[in-house]
Amino acid sequence: MNSARHPHLWHPTTQVRTAPPPLAVRRGRGAVLELADGRELIDAISSWWVTLHGHGEPSIAAAIASQARELEQVIFADCTHAPAERLAERLSAHSGLERLFFSDNGSTAVEVALKIAWQWWHNRAEPRQRLIGFAGAYHGDTVGAMAVGARSLFTAAYEPLLFDVARVDWPQCDWSEPEPLAREARALAELEQALSVPTAAVILEPLIQGASGMAMVRPAFLQAVQERVRAAGALLIADEVMTGFGRTGSLFACRGAGIQPDLIALSKGLTGGFLPMGVTLASERLYAGFISDDPGATFFHGHSFTANPLGCAAALASLDLLEAEPQRYAAFDRRHRPLLEQLAGHPRVERPRLLGTVAAFDVRVDDPGYLNGVGRRIQRHCLEAGVYLRPLGHVVYLLPPLCLSDDQLNQCYAAITAALDSLG
Ligand SMILES: *Cc1c(COP(=O)(O)O)cnc(C)c1O
Repeated sequence: MNSARHPHLWHPTTQVRTAPPPLAVRRGRGAVLELADGRELIDAISSWWVTLHGHGEPSIAAAIASQARELEQVIFADCTHAPAERLAERLSAHSGLERLFFSDNGSTAVEVALKIAWQWWHNRAEPRQRLIGFAGAYHGDTVGAMAVGARSLFTAAYEPLLFDVARVDWPQCDWSEPEPLAREARALAELEQALSVPTAAVILEPLIQGASGMAMVRPAFLQAVQERVRAAGALLIADEVMTGFGRTGSLFACRGAGIQPDLIALSKGLTGGFLPMGVTLASERLYAGFISDDPGATFFHGHSFTANPLGCAAALASLDLLEAEPQRYAAFDRRHRPLLEQLAGHPRVERPRLLGTVAAFDVRVDDPGYLNGVGRRIQRHCLEAGVYLRPLGHVVYLLPPLCLSDDQLNQCYAAITAALDSLG
């Protein structure tokens, strides 16, 4: 079922000593990955949350092919092009933020947001030193993105490189505790305390923290956070790298949560999962802070592949699909709900939670955590049933492409139920 390890490849977040060899994938069609040995797997986590509509989505493939024949790439420092301009106009209309800055992935989209926020205060000659993040946050694997994320096993080796960030609790809710009011109040008090020092920016993953285990908060909590951030005059950065493009049931989680940040980072679903691209959306007020006779006020940041036309074409084609059929993401929670309700009765299931396309629960174990082996056991069991999952420690979740059929969704839940049964 598995191929052997390649002698010249180094896979991400993989401990070779303990991980099984990689699955050799030959093709992707819709929600299905076809392996080199002919087996088929349902990609129930959208290949690390990027495959938005489905693998091989024909209209995106066609848009990329057509753009490749016109203009594959051009320097974006002295040039502009129609695909970039159209994408900026459309994402600006959807997000309420007027300016779009391109980079290459989610981590760099976050880095750009942090640098814009930091330099905006610097350019105003009122530098602010404090940054605030949330417990459990994940913002990417580059050094600045790691610094604003939670400290963990994944960041321990780099600790001395990571700048200081004030940290506030993340009052997660789920079906067993839908309104954690006391925890929210404590978190808001912590936030007020942290904001008592002049703060450049507060960064958060709106509605769902992804990598920390699909940890969901209430919109009311985020509205209260925004209120405190505004009162302190700080900037609010929303990392929508995972939540963007319908994942939470709204096109953007900020819209669903009723907040309007100053900066939004997007990637993953941006190109429908076809090409690596990140964007950082910023308000006109921030953009204006970089226009000056002083060359030092310039935002001196740029990537070789800034505004890659193929990525822009893919993103435009993906937006076409989202705009044509918003019910595909807006109504996805109704498809999950009865199945998750049924699963919630399983003795191994704790803290079931659901938002938009994302359904998650904790597996009841004695020693929870990322290194708990129960996730691996469930993964192995589901693979044999034709469903590809990648639990986050003892957190099992589904985050499927929008094309997933009802039959395929049923198959995912059946595989998970059987895997839980097998735990004994
Ligand atoms: C995946 C992710 C990132 C990092 O994106 P990459 O493209 O992997 O660099 C940042 N923030 C969030 C919320 C993410 O889920």
